[in-house]
Amino acid sequence: MRVVFVFGFLFLLGACSSSEPQNPPTASAGFIDLSAWDFSQSEPFELSGEWEFYWSQLLSPQQIGQQTPDFQLREVPARWTSYDNQLPVEGYATYRLRMQLPAVSQVYGLFLDGQGSSFTLWANGEVIATDGDVGTELSANVRRGQPQLVFFQPDDSLVELVMQVSNFSHRSAGFRNAFIIGSADAIHSLERNSSLFQSTYLGLLLAIALYHYFLFSQRTEDSFPFHFANLALLVAIRIGFTGNNVLVSVFPFLSWEIALRIEYFTFFLITPIFAAMMRSIYPRDVHRWFFLTTIAVAAVYSVFTVFVSTLTATYTVPSYQLVILLEMLYFVYVLVRIFVKKREGRFYFGIATVIGLMGLFSEILFSRGFVSYGEVAPIGIVGFVMVQAIYLAARFSTTFRRVEELSVLLERNNESLQESETKYRTIFEDSKDMIYVADLSGRVEEISPSCKEIFGYTREEVIGNKTNLNEIASKEDRSLFSSLMTEFNSVEDFEFDLPHKDGHKVRVAMNASTRVDTNGKITGILGTVRDITDKVQAREQRLRAERAETIASTDALTNAYTRRFLNEVTQREMARSSRNSTPLTLVILDIDHFKQINDTHGHLAGDKVLVQLSQLCRNNIRSTDVFSRYGGEEFIILMPETSLELGRQKTEALRQLISSEPLIEFNGREIPLSFSAGVATWEPGESLESLIARADGALYRAKKSGRDQTCVAANKQSQ
Ligand code: GH3
Ligand code: MG
Ligand code: MG
Repeated sequence: MRVVFVFGFLFLLGACSSSEPQNPPTASAGFIDLSAWDFSQSEPFELSGEWEFYWSQLLSPQQIGQQTPDFQLREVPARWTSYDNQLPVEGYATYRLRMQLPAVSQVYGLFLDGQGSSFTLWANGEVIATDGDVGTELSANVRRGQPQLVFFQPDDSLVELVMQVSNFSHRSAGFRNAFIIGSADAIHSLERNSSLFQSTYLGLLLAIALYHYFLFSQRTEDSFPFHFANLALLVAIRIGFTGNNVLVSVFPFLSWEIALRIEYFTFFLITPIFAAMMRSIYPRDVHRWFFLTTIAVAAVYSVFTVFVSTLTATYTVPSYQLVILLEMLYFVYVLVRIFVKKREGRFYFGIATVIGLMGLFSEILFSRGFVSYGEVAPIGIVGFVMVQAIYLAARFSTTFRRVEELSVLLERNNESLQESETKYRTIFEDSKDMIYVADLSGRVEEISPSCKEIFGYTREEVIGNKTNLNEIASKEDRSLFSSLMTEFNSVEDFEFDLPHKDGHKVRVAMNASTRVDTNGKITGILGTVRDITDKVQAREQRLRAERAETIASTDALTNAYTRRFLNEVTQREMARSSRNSTPLTLVILDIDHFKQINDTHGHLAGDKVLVQLSQLCRNNIRSTDVFSRYGGEEFIILMPETSLELGRQKTEALRQLISSEPLIEFNGREIPLSFSAGVATWEPGESLESLIARADGALYRAKKSGRDQTCVAANKQSQ
């Protein structure tokens, strides 16, 4: 930030050094006494003051000497249109000034700044400078409008300057810019410094422009360097065509008329280019309509300038200055906005823009004749460009640093990602359980190699739809699985028979849950499958042994276990449960309106319902679950190693399975069937009676709340 101020300060210093020295003499009544002025010690100064003014006359020094025509005394420098008698823009006149110089045979220098009008200048009767053709009407004069250096060595200390001026091509008519007089050396160095200054600006701006065009060519996603380069180039061209007109010397074939128009184009284009640049960094802060308006206005002005006479073209400038002032208001609004919204780079951009706008503003004031320091405009704009270049460099290095940091981070992430990938891959590959990922249709996308051991198919055979898990499971298993998945988005210990490649059935338990994408949409299933054949065989063996011990262990009608058998198993399961700290859940279910079934369809139909329901329940519970008939149309399922929630899920799945399809047909009539259920989980120390009572309480609630539903018993303490 400090750099910015140093730059600003330097530029202002530069501007100050071009102002005049203290108290130079001024002309009065067409005469200036410089006899006491020490040219060798003083800075050059402007020959301003009252000159003799001969309106509508083109007089040579001889004519003035012989005819002594009438004249008026008028201030120089000034446009003649600003004189009291309101002279027209188009016209001609002669100016005359006599100077008393301190010494003869010294070489004096005059620095003649370009005028809007053509002129011829005499010193003591000799033509010493011309610019264009002076005449009484618009001629095809070849004007350069460029500053000139003139040196003269008078042989008389009284020097008479006569200048004929004619104007038909510029709105600033007459002797607009004062001559600067000084010793030959001083004038030389004045001119040198001034062109050095301008050439330096010009070179600097061209280099900046080229550099940023190059930057843009390397990375076209960011258009800021491009607009910035355009702006720098534009300002360079503008500086080249104003002041010392460096570019006119470089391209001598450019006529004054063309050079003037190029200068105007650069003036018209400044705001659209600036707006484009601002928009490229702050797209949300610069409105599109504003940008388009600046382009449209600049285009209208440029086209107009091409088709009208040079004199008319010079009239476009004041009104475009007004346009720029209005546009400046908008830029100030954008500046305030980027500060309020705390946009990135606002300090650089803010300071640069303020310097640039001040420069532009002072150029307008200068050209309107309100201030006398015209150098500030290019300085302001160069200052702006410099600050922007610094900002851009800062931005690039910040971006680069960020990229470096990011790539280090990325590398680190990659390493840890690789580590975890190896870890998971090992788990996946060495797992005895089969891990798989499937899409919604059941097509397996990925499966662990253990599938070969579990059901005989290789990974390659399963992946890519050759073996669809959905298709090889039985119809009942599939429908229970999908109804569980639909309701709970997951299944736990879901047991079913998986057909092995060689034909036999493998009893497996599956845990699965749905996969969800970032939008919450279900995309498939992730699951594990464990071979539980051994475990089931061991259990069944144990149950068979237990059954052998128990007389009359099954109910004659439904083949369900008897109440007595249930009592015994439950005692053992309770002991095992407290030993292993595994949950034990008991479900009691009661057929809804069973009496009505008996009454409507007869007792035999009722019996058939009981038999089929029992069968269905037995088929859809795990082999370790115990299904028993508790009384009439009431059943109890004991579920070892099952939590309350899982017990509820399984009961719900059963209930939906039964109530969703009409299962029973009797004498050609379908019997609608549903049951209500209560679920309770055993609490250590609790008796079977208490457990059943709690489950019964939940069943009672299910009946009360409209039947065909499952209720869960609260735990004992909260009852
Ligand atoms: P709720 O929905 O409240 O359970 O109504 P419900 O009609 O099912 O209940 P309720 O306890 O009033 O009726 C049970 C009926 O079950 C009474 C009995 O005749 C009948 N029942 C009991 N055992 C058997 C059996 O072995 N076979 C047949 N067919 N009916 C039986
Ligand atoms: Mg009943
Ligand atoms: Mg009943």
